[in-house]
Amino acid sequence: MIVMDEDDCMVSVAKFFLEFTVGESCGKCTPCRIGNKRMLEILDRITEGRGKMEDIDKLENLAKVIKDTALCGLGQTSPNPVLSTLSNFREEYVEHVKDHVCRAHKCKALLTYSIDPVLCKGCSLCARNCPAEAIAGEVRKPFVINPEKCIRCGMCLSRCKFGAIHVI
Ligand code: SF4
Ligand code: SF4
Ligand code: SF4
Repeated sequence: MIVMDEDDCMVSVAKFFLEFTVGESCGKCTPCRIGNKRMLEILDRITEGRGKMEDIDKLENLAKVIKDTALCGLGQTSPNPVLSTLSNFREEYVEHVKDHVCRAHKCKALLTYSIDPVLCKGCSLCARNCPAEAIAGEVRKPFVINPEKCIRCGMCLSRCKFGAIHVI
């Protein structure tokens, strides 16, 4: 039994289990060998913010076909995490695709870091620790993150002592 809460992203969970199946597939039958790889590519797109609404339907159709046609139990059960999360948490898939939002903050590519100008003390600690040189500002004035340069490493969030960095 695996217990999850609102801090888990259901799309990432489905992807995690599918990665395992893709690695374990013996390759004897096409639905499992090829179909699971195609499903994984779709999940990659969705978690990286490149998904389209039609990907969700494609994913569901593919999962059903693989479940019905794979030769052995591994392939027949491999789509279960996708089908189960689609059935119970479809809105999370839609949010990833339509709004580019991962409500659990697990999909790195969908995170946006920003600095609250009211809380920022201008200490410059975040800028000095940013590996991408994505933060600029003058000491004792609010600093600013350049989203084009940010690689979403989370370093600034862990360094700011004033709770001035937000991630959504
Ligand atoms: S479903 Fe079974 S037989 Fe077919 S590729 Fe997967 S592991 Fe091999
Ligand atoms: S570490 Fe925090 S307070 Fe200091 S400049 Fe960065 S955001 Fe502002
Ligand atoms: S998340 Fe990382 S790359 Fe982005 S601004 Fe913060 S320290 Fe820089």
